[in-house]
Amino acid sequence: MTHPLKLISPDEALRVVLQTSQPAPPRSVPLLQAVGLRLAEDVRADRDCPPFDRAMMDGYAVRLADAGATLQPAGSIAAGQAATGRLTPGTCFEIMTGAACPEGTQAVVPKELVVREGGFVTLPRELGELQHVAARGAECREGAVVLRAGDVITPLAVGVLASVGRQAVLAVPAPRLGILTTGGELIAGGQSPGSAQIRDSNGPMLAAMAMRCGTPPVQVLHAGDDLEAIVAALEALQDCDLVVLTGGVSAGRYDLVPDSFRRIGAALLFHKVTQKPGKPLLFARRDRQLLFGLPGNPLAAHWCFHRYVAAAIRRRCGHAAAAPERRVGRLTATVRRSDSRTWFLLGRAERTGGAEQEWQVQPLPGGSSADIFSTSQANCYLEVPPGDPLRAAGQAVAFELLALERCAL
Ligand code: AMP
Ligand code: MG
Repeated sequence: MTHPLKLISPDEALRVVLQTSQPAPPRSVPLLQAVGLRLAEDVRADRDCPPFDRAMMDGYAVRLADAGATLQPAGSIAAGQAATGRLTPGTCFEIMTGAACPEGTQAVVPKELVVREGGFVTLPRELGELQHVAARGAECREGAVVLRAGDVITPLAVGVLASVGRQAVLAVPAPRLGILTTGGELIAGGQSPGSAQIRDSNGPMLAAMAMRCGTPPVQVLHAGDDLEAIVAALEALQDCDLVVLTGGVSAGRYDLVPDSFRRIGAALLFHKVTQKPGKPLLFARRDRQLLFGLPGNPLAAHWCFHRYVAAAIRRRCGHAAAAPERRVGRLTATVRRSDSRTWFLLGRAERTGGAEQEWQVQPLPGGSSADIFSTSQANCYLEVPPGDPLRAAGQAVAFELLALERCAL
């Protein structure tokens, strides 16, 4: 027995998605596989950094009292060579960048600033205390927290982790994401389409969006408009944390995705949202797996991934701010709406020359929710709420950037 689900607003739909999606349990991840993930532990320095007084230039390790003196270097210290010997007044050592200064060093004089003659060097008259020396522990002390739980593991963070001897870190893993395209009219790239067939563009487009979110799909499958085939594909995707389907979620005779969700025992959380594009969006859960049934129209699939799937990914990846970031700009052209849904239009947002935070937003003239050609220059979605049939040029408009960094990275 099926019962109809309530039509809900886009904000309500986003709330349900964010509520249902939870951060994955942290696990130990090798350093280079952790790029873009969130740390799930505070990381401390295992030793002082630098671990010795480090020469920052090729030159001479000297004492301040010897400013202006002519000295014979007592030896030469290369990077990686343990410092032996002590620097006493009247002596100096030749030293290389990155080498450990001998005990007693008060300054390093770059080699360009000394006069060399017959095995002797004459030092400048003025020496600054600890010039060109990074003192032991100047960057961080042993035991100090160098990265915190919740920090994104950027390439710089990888450098920090490697510096403190970590080869793996506790991180929130990215979800395993599967994509399932449905539709009897679709053919895969590389095949030649029959007269009533079209190429699958949603599969590659959604895979690209997932990659930009730091979660490349682990599987991309296709099923025709056939209940058994869709159910079989869903079973094959059982190990995924997140499954994104396209097509077959509306009310047509061959829209079998809602039934397939019921067949696999998934709980339907909502079906249909008061938005354009993407009204038939379907969201369900089977145990810990989240399932999104996106409409097949390419722009509807794009919008629904941008707004809802990406938010679920961010949440699972442990982002504190998983909801899309909304900004406000000024419309460059008038927008008219014609129904009671919230409209989300692709547009082009540019910062104006003036104040940093000012944006102007140009709506792009997309024909329908199937037309991805007229909107390929878009970098944002602008939002036109219901009950406001006309938004004139110059008026304020809310928009969301299609920004890459809003996702997992
Ligand atoms: P549906 O949601 O199945 O009713 O499909 C709506 C429209 O989107 C139809 O015109 C489909 O041919 C088209 N469509 C469905 N899936 C895809 C896909 N993977 N790539 C491109 N277009 C699609
Ligand atoms: Mg279809």
